[in-house]
Amino acid sequence: MPAPYRGVLLDLFGTLITFEPGRLPEMQVGSERIRTTVAGLAGPLATWAPGTTPEGFLQALVAVSDEMARGRTSDHVELPSRERFRRALERVGCDDTRLAEAAVHLSRAHMALIATATILPDEHRALLEALRPRYRLGLVSNFDDTATGLGADEVLFVGDTFAEDVLGARAAGVDAAWIDARGGGVPDGATPPRFRLRGLCELAPLLVTP
Ligand SMILES: [Mg+2]
Repeated sequence: MPAPYRGVLLDLFGTLITFEPGRLPEMQVGSERIRTTVAGLAGPLATWAPGTTPEGFLQALVAVSDEMARGRTSDHVELPSRERFRRALERVGCDDTRLAEAAVHLSRAHMALIATATILPDEHRALLEALRPRYRLGLVSNFDDTATGLGADEVLFVGDTFAEDVLGARAAGVDAAWIDARGGGVPDGATPPRFRLRGLCELAPLLVTP
């Protein structure tokens, strides 16, 4: 018997799509070669922050990302990517008058490179097709700025990260299906989610009548 939901909200990275960092461009950092979108940002950097090398920008971006991650543990606010790039550009001395526009361009170029390293597995595409006739489907990333169409008690959220996806959904009053891909189980002392799955494909039997 399918669960009585009208909609399913899916986390994106790690849940619906897989991310393959090996597809990102490569650059030399010290004695190491690393894969990072920044390796592909030399062009936009030359336009928006002349004189800044990808290596220098990467250092600023990593420092800013670490600061933002620390802030997130206390305020639980996920800031958009363009804010991360704005702060990194500010740190490398980008002209104040161009900062906001530069951040938009750099974050879009970064996202285009991220998109080249993502894969939607065939079985996940098939799952969406099986769910689509019966449920309203939504993709929910770590921040949102759009209106919702269904009530919290009418949807199921599906995600792979316990702290963000399960606890985040619970804080919003939404049931969660947690993909515990490694089989580590619910953290000690935590309340289990409504459903625990080992992979996204285990969702269909919960929601679709055979
Ligand atoms: Mg995820």
